[in-house]
Amino acid sequence: MQLVVTYTNPDDQALGLKALESAAVPFEVRQVEDEGMEITEVFVPETQFDHACDIIEGLEAEMAQMRQKAGKMVCPSCGEELKHCEDVDFSGSVTGITSVLKCQGCGRLIPR
Ligand SMILES: [Zn+2]
Repeated sequence: MQLVVTYTNPDDQALGLKALESAAVPFEVRQVEDEGMEITEVFVPETQFDHACDIIEGLEAEMAQMRQKAGKMVCPSCGEELKHCEDVDFSGSVTGITSVLKCQGCGRLIPR
């Protein structure tokens, strides 16, 4: 068995497992705890690994699109929500950038 994805959000997990189920990919779920956080690891057979990755990636892209439609700005790397970053001072900026968004998931900064 190979680890294909981990979930910390039960809603995301439900969607992911449903997608694997409807694609007839067998999977095994293991609960682990990391620094007090419940993490669900999803394993698939090695022969199904590539297929399962495609399904999960497709689903994540779809979810990012859905969130974008809902009016939220999301990170192009991980799909988490972007928030305005207040810690950056642009008063001396020569780039024309006046504000920056910060990803709540991976911490990526995105100028806008
Ligand atoms: Zn991110």
